[in-house]
Parts: sequence; structure tokens; C-alpha cells
Amino acid sequence: MNLSKTEIIRLLSDDEHEAKLLSHADAVRRQYVGDEVHLRALLEFSNICRNNCLYCGLRKDNLKVKRYHLSAEEMVETARLAAQLGFKTVVMQSGEDMYYTAARLCPIIEAIKKFDVAITLSIGERSYADYKAFREAGADRYLMRIETTNQELYHRLDPKMSWQHRYDCLMMIKELGYELGSGIMVGLPDQTIDSVADDLLFLQQIGVDMAGIGPFIPHPETPLADCKGGTLHLALRTMAIMRLLLPDINIPATTAMEALAQNGQALALNSGANVLMPNVTAGGYCKLYELYPGQKHSINNTPKQWYDSVCSKINSIGRIVGQGYGGHKSTLLSHKKSEA
Ligand code: SAM
Ligand code: SF4
Repeated sequence: MNLSKTEIIRLLSDDEHEAKLLSHADAVRRQYVGDEVHLRALLEFSNICRNNCLYCGLRKDNLKVKRYHLSAEEMVETARLAAQLGFKTVVMQSGEDMYYTAARLCPIIEAIKKFDVAITLSIGERSYADYKAFREAGADRYLMRIETTNQELYHRLDPKMSWQHRYDCLMMIKELGYELGSGIMVGLPDQTIDSVADDLLFLQQIGVDMAGIGPFIPHPETPLADCKGGTLHLALRTMAIMRLLLPDINIPATTAMEALAQNGQALALNSGANVLMPNVTAGGYCKLYELYPGQKHSINNTPKQWYDSVCSKINSIGRIVGQGYGGHKSTLLSHKKSEA
């Protein structure tokens, strides 16, 4: 569906008709992608990062974080358990940790691929050669948020990074045949509704296969500790409009939404979202991967209990757990390759 910037701004600003927008997005979601909720096992394999994004708890100047990265064996074993539980996608996410060169990461991707899962990488900006190597090793999707399309704001919040370079990376990823995931945060300091409307049009224009939209939540150990942060309402509205703009893509109910309200992800699933990314990282590590306060961890549950509780949450709102790989495109290229 096409919406003008003026219409998007009106929808983003309209408190009174929010419920109507969210239920319309829910109906569009049902019509285009059905009732399945696709589960992605989130494996946070390293909290080491060379960058200093002002909003992020993992920024390199946050000296209070105890840094870790998982060994290859730990990663493969966690992915094996996730596949055994029933996950059909493993999302490998990290800070920009250069220890994980292509030479180190590719064999891990190849090993995880043997568990018959789709692989999403979310490890930030790399060279074309690295993206190509990961793709050839079996990575199917790549997730990297543009964060904001306001370049001046981006450069203020992401010191020493280049918006243009991030954009170029997204284009390389697309060209290499990955399913492309991107997204934004809403409620960044000095971000306007006008700018969020631009972000939505940008994601539509580059044709993302997946769009992750979450509220910015201030982390106490960052320079943005005293900022106000985004609201769940604005995040839900933004996400709902995304569903209208790109009706058949994958849209996760983000964990940042759940951090703001206990039923945040259920609300999101009823407002256009069709993906959940439960964390499968072992408890000891997962609590060290703190992007923002209020992240929910599975530390008190066994992986099986955690998986079952996510499934019953999905069923309790009248939805069903997705059985396939749950990609946007019907067949994953790397599966095609192995079938050929
Ligand atoms: N390092 C990679 C990157 O930046 O693309 C992947 C991991 S990064 C931690 C994943 C996402 O977390 C970022 O793209 C950003 O949108 C989000 N994030 C970071 N800090 C946040 C905060 N304080 N509130 C909400 N989301 C946050
Ligand atoms: Fe590093 Fe990503 Fe956090 Fe930026 S958002 S500091 S790149 S982990």
C-alpha cells in the first residue's frame, strides 16, 4: 500500500484513532501472512564491540560491562539445542567483534546449517568479501538496522560511523541475495515524527524483507542515560504503518516493546507483527548482553520451559507457531543451492 508522507505523519500523530490503525494493521497481517508466528532463536554470541553508539549498553566506552564471546563449540551446541526444541531459524547477533573474522565465523555457520535451520546474521558492518563469505557458508538473512534516516542525528549518535557506509552495507547485503532485515528505533533524542515518517518510506523504498522497529530505551551507563526514550504507543503505531506499507514482510514483536510493558509483544502481535525472537543464549552470558534495561532473560527457566512458555503465549492470543523457515521469500537461496 502506498501512503504519502503527510498521511504517515497524520497516522503517527493521531492518538484518538490509534486503536483503529492497530487493528487495521492486524487485519492486513492476517490477510497477507496469516496467523503463523515465526520463532527465531536469538544467539547473542559476543558483547564485544568496537563502536561507541551513544544509546547502546554495549558501547566500547561502557567499562562496567563484563565482556565475553562464546567459543565456536558453545555457539554450535546452543544452536543444536535450539533446533532440537523446534526453532527453524537461528539469529546470530553480536557487537562489532572483529575477533570473529570470516575465517572463524564461516565454519561455525556451516556447522549450524547442518541442523536444518535458516541463519540470520546481525553482526554489523563488514566488508563485501566478508558478507560474500558468510553467504557462501550458508547465511540466509542479514539484519542491520539503519537506526534513523536523519543523517545528522545518526552521526551525532554513532560517533565515527558513517550513515552512507551503513547504507552501502545494506545494499551489498541485498545484492548478495540475503533476505534483508533493517529497522529503526523510535524516540531517539531530537528525532521528530517527520523523521520517523521518512524512515518508514526509506524501509519501503529499499524493499526490506524484515523490519524491526523498537522504542529507544535509555541505558544508565551511556551518555543518553537521562533522555526520555521512546513510548510503546509510538513504536506500535510506527510498526503498524510499516505493515500497511509492506503488507507481506516479516515484522518482529521486538523485545524492547516487552521491556516497556509486560504485554508489549502480545500487543505488537495484535498490531501487525508476525515474528518473535526468544533469546536462547545461556543465562550467564545473556544477562551480560544488556543493550537497555528491562530486557527479559530466560535465566530462571530451562530452554524447554522457555520455549513452551513462548508457544503458549502465541496460542493464548489465538495464533499458531510457524512450522517452516518463515522467510519472506518462499525458498531460501542457500537451501535452493544445497537442493540443486
Ligand atoms: N552491533 C550490531 C548492530 O549495531 O547492527 C547488532 C547488534 S545491536 C546491539 C542491535 C540493535 O540494538 C541496534 O541496531 C539498535 O537498534 C538496538 N539498540 C541498541 N541500544 C538500544 C537501546 N538503548 N534501546 C533500544 N534499542 C537499542
Ligand atoms: Fe555496537 Fe551495535 Fe551497540 Fe552500536 S548498537 S555499540 S554497533 S552493539
